[in-house]
Amino acid sequence: MNLLWKMRHILRNYWKQYLFAFISLQTVAILNLLPPWLIGRFVDEANDGSLTQTQLLNYVGLIAVTAVAIYGLRYLWRSLLYGASIDLVKGQRDQLFAHFTKMSPDFYQKHSTGDLMAHATNDLNAVEESAGSGIMTLVDSLIAGFTVLAAMIIAVNGKLALLALLPFPLLIWSTNKYGSMLHERFSVAQATFSSLNEEAREAVSGIRAVKAHRLDQRQQSRFSEVSNDTVKANRRVAFVDSMFGPSIQLFFGMSMVITLLAGSWMINQGDMTLGLLTSFTLYLGQLLGPMLQFGWQFNVFQRGSASWSRLEKLFNVEPTVKEAPDAVDVSDNTSLAIDIDSFSYPNSENRVLGQVKLSIPQGQLFGITGRTGSGKSTLFRLLQREFNLTGNSAVSIGDTALENIKLNSLRAQFGWVPQDPMLFSGTIAENIAFAKPEATQEEIVNAARMAAIHEEITEFKEGYQTILGEQGINLSGGQKQRVAFARALLKDTSILLLDDSFSALDMKTEAKILKNLQGLRGNKTIILITQRLPELITADQIIVLEEGEVIERGDHDALIANGEWYSKIFNQQARTLLLEAEKAAQLPEQDLNQYGALSA
Ligand code: ATP
Ligand code: MG
Repeated sequence: MNLLWKMRHILRNYWKQYLFAFISLQTVAILNLLPPWLIGRFVDEANDGSLTQTQLLNYVGLIAVTAVAIYGLRYLWRSLLYGASIDLVKGQRDQLFAHFTKMSPDFYQKHSTGDLMAHATNDLNAVEESAGSGIMTLVDSLIAGFTVLAAMIIAVNGKLALLALLPFPLLIWSTNKYGSMLHERFSVAQATFSSLNEEAREAVSGIRAVKAHRLDQRQQSRFSEVSNDTVKANRRVAFVDSMFGPSIQLFFGMSMVITLLAGSWMINQGDMTLGLLTSFTLYLGQLLGPMLQFGWQFNVFQRGSASWSRLEKLFNVEPTVKEAPDAVDVSDNTSLAIDIDSFSYPNSENRVLGQVKLSIPQGQLFGITGRTGSGKSTLFRLLQREFNLTGNSAVSIGDTALENIKLNSLRAQFGWVPQDPMLFSGTIAENIAFAKPEATQEEIVNAARMAAIHEEITEFKEGYQTILGEQGINLSGGQKQRVAFARALLKDTSILLLDDSFSALDMKTEAKILKNLQGLRGNKTIILITQRLPELITADQIIVLEEGEVIERGDHDALIANGEWYSKIFNQQARTLLLEAEKAAQLPEQDLNQYGALSA
């Protein structure tokens, strides 16, 4: 019942369907009373010899007509209610998805994909079952049960009815008890299903790694462990499930015994006729259906309510990153002022960034480098407000603090190529135009040219219409990087965030892209995170991060003159690059010039 109350706002939208369904239900319940009553009269008339042939035909005809009418009405209310519940759950599912898309990354750190998928499928199905067949059976069993009871009390024999009802309180008590057991056990079962789902997802999406490391066996045994837990939890649910029916039958049997004993005693006393007792027992028989249904709907509602609680928990999570109520759009001025005091990820003690103060004027090429784990990608995530700043940190675009910028406007400023670019199932063209679906073919090709991937795409049989598998499975690492880069270019934003975006490219392709980037400079701010220092030779400013602190800053020449980490690593890399270039003699003169100082 609790569940119905919680769902009232949604159910309200479907009141017409529910109302019509209830009217048909009530009519069915009343029509159902007819046959036992006719049979009772038939028994009495046959008993005293007054039954004529026409009368008999009348009884049979009436019973047949009733059966057909009941059939039609049952069809009507079922189709009305199932339609409503399917609609209702579709609405819930859409809302859940919209909710997921609003959540900040920390939400996804807490909830695994498998778990979220389990909520969107299994839990919503349980709610759908409650809103459809659950409500229907509840109302059906109540209407049918009370109508039959009324007939027993008013039309047949009130005293006998009261006696027959004696075992009912026990029945209600036990149904309640099983109900709460079921609620608890079903919650556990749904949680194990979440784990099972996640385990399956991880195993399938990580199948390459699993095979490469020959972990098939280990993966299988892990899976079967989780799967065993699920089976155990569902067995416990099934155990309670199977208690409902038999205990209802037991109490019903007790009623029947009382009825027969008390009824025959009453006939002996001349208090009722044989025909009336026949009608009464037939009515009592009609009660079994609603009683079993009532038990069953209890079961359905307990499942629905356990799942609803799980969904409610997700729905109640607020996104941690919010825009201020009076947030504004980003102005034309997109210079960046970054003043980070310190930053740790939520739920983690580790300080990932220390004091980082940067000023990046519009149109600069800004380089960020440093050892792995030094906080480079974290900086990009903070710029885009994936996480809230902490402490005294402040970041602003133009003169507006990030918190005061509308999130949509903020994210529209950045063309971001993440370190592990995400491609989607669909064509290459769709993937490039992901952030701008209305882009023309010409725009798509231009972006692909800038990203030095156009030629390779045209070599594919289907060209731009080549379908990419899940996560771009049919592209090489370098191709993926460049498709993601083309996507960011097509979005045509004022700031490009490139996170180690060329790490998988050969020198020649990398050089081509660097040349194209030079052309964008001045127009766009380009922030380039890289471990390949020659990419930074022409940068306006470069910083070196070490454990979240800026340990060196300046342009290439200044950092080389400095003689610290940057210059050491640069010289190492330059030597290797030159060696490779000489060996392969693959770079035309002007491409080598992209590396500026290298060729000097
Ligand atoms: P790389 O060159 O390997 O890409 P990076 O400089 O980009 O390294 P970051 O990804 O910024 O490094 O990570 C900096 C630190 O923050 C690491 O120690 C990492 O363990 C930690 N870290 C990254 N993401 C999270 C997260 N979501 N929650 C908690 N800690 C995180
Ligand atoms: Mg990184």
